[in-house]
Amino acid sequence: MTNIAFTYMGHNFSQQSWHVFAGLNAVDNPTNVEKVFAKLKSLGISCTRMGAYKPRTRPNTFQGHGESCLPYVFALAADYGIKIIAMEVTHERQLEEIEKHRPTSVGVMLQIGTRNAQNFELLKAVGAQQKHPVLFKRGYGITLEESLSACEYITSHGNSKVIFCLRGMKSLFATPHRNFVDFAHVPVIHRLTNMPVCIDPSHAVGASIEDIFHVTAQGTIAGANMLLVDIHPQPSTALVDAAQAISLDLLEKYFYDVDISRQAYVKRSQLFGVAVPA
Ligand code: PEP
Ligand code: MN
Repeated sequence: MTNIAFTYMGHNFSQQSWHVFAGLNAVDNPTNVEKVFAKLKSLGISCTRMGAYKPRTRPNTFQGHGESCLPYVFALAADYGIKIIAMEVTHERQLEEIEKHRPTSVGVMLQIGTRNAQNFELLKAVGAQQKHPVLFKRGYGITLEESLSACEYITSHGNSKVIFCLRGMKSLFATPHRNFVDFAHVPVIHRLTNMPVCIDPSHAVGASIEDIFHVTAQGTIAGANMLLVDIHPQPSTALVDAAQAISLDLLEKYFYDVDISRQAYVKRSQLFGVAVPA
C-alpha cells in the first residue's frame, strides 16, 4: 500500500501523528454545537466530529438532521476556529451537499461507517475525490483482511489519504460492552499497512463512561494516531447514543488522562528505538 502521510488543513497525519476529534455523535441543535465548539476552543482543539447523516438500526429513530444542519454547523465551526470535522457520509450525494455549505476555512474528514465498510460504490466515490481524507471504520462483522481490502477501493480510485478506525467488533461475548474492543490491533494495522490508525472508544464500549476512559488509555498507549470520541453538553438529552457521550465537565480530566497515555506511548517507543514526535 502507498505510503500514507499527508497534511490536511494544517494538520499532519501519519503513523506518528496524534490528533483528538471530540464532538457530537449526532448534531441536535445550534446551541449544543456552539457549546461543544466553545469548549474545544478553550482547550486549544481544532478538530471535531459532527454527525449529520446517521445510519440507524431502526427506521423509526432519529436519522440525523442531514443537509439542513450543515449551514449552522459550518458557520459555527468557522467562528470557533474548527479546522477539520469528521462527518459520516452514507451516500455519495452527501459529498455535494457538504461542498455546497462548507466554507474554505473548514475541512471535512469523510467518515465511512462500519455498516458501509463494504459498500463498494460509496468507497469508490470517496476514493474518486482527492480533496478530503477518509476515515474508514473497520467492518464490525468481517475479517480484518476484508476491511483492509475494502480500503483499497478508496486508494485504488485515487485517494491515498485514508485513516483506519478501530471501533470494536460485533460479538455477543462483548457484553456488557457494546462491541468487543479491538484496540490490540493498533500495532497490527501499523505493521500491515502504512495507514494512520484511529480509535473510537465510544462506539467500542457503549454505555460505561468509566470503561470508555480505560479503553481510550489502552488504544492511546498502543500508539493510536487519532482519537474519535463522543461528547455532549448534556449527555442524557443526546438524540443518539446518549449513554456513551462524555460530558463537557469531564472533558479536561479526560484529555489530561489521554495525555498521560500518549506520553507513556512516546516513552515506550523511545525505549524500543522508534522515533515518535511528542
Ligand atoms: C459514528 O461514528 O457515528 C458511527 C455510527 O460509528 P460506527 O459506524 O462505528 O457504528
Ligand atoms: Mn507500517
